[in-house]
Amino acid sequence: MDGNYKTFGIVRELDSLGRIVIPKETRDLLGIRLEDPIEFFVDENTIIVRRYKSNCCLFCMDSHDLVHFRNQLICKSCIKEVLKHNREQGPAVQAPPVQEDRRRSKSDKLKQVEDILKEKPNLRQQELAEMLGISQGYVSQLLRKLNNS
Ligand SMILES: [Zn+2]
Repeated sequence: MDGNYKTFGIVRELDSLGRIVIPKETRDLLGIRLEDPIEFFVDENTIIVRRYKSNCCLFCMDSHDLVHFRNQLICKSCIKEVLKHNREQGPAVQAPPVQEDRRRSKSDKLKQVEDILKEKPNLRQQELAEMLGISQGYVSQLLRKLNNS
């Protein structure tokens, strides 16, 4: 055995049917859960036991256009479905009122920026952002708008 092998110092006996229990410590270490499919490899006189990973999509079991993500395989059409689902079920439902609010608060902020700059014309964007509690990117967006009007 070379240095790549770790041992917990646990010895188990095969039972009369040739079965063996994989020690809990080992299962926990590798994220193997009860009733997971397991596959075996033989390398000279060593048996390698590994959680079976099928080459198919986690969701639809398809085996085309697979993308590896966080140790799982997902097909591109399922990724598209997930994104579409998110768009339909997620923030999109609340989008219209939020946009209206934003437009209103944007003109408020625009006015605030205008007022502040009247008093302190040399204020930096960073300071403006802090005063208004908004991002610097938003400040520069507002400033561009101010300069255009
Ligand atoms: Zn799929």
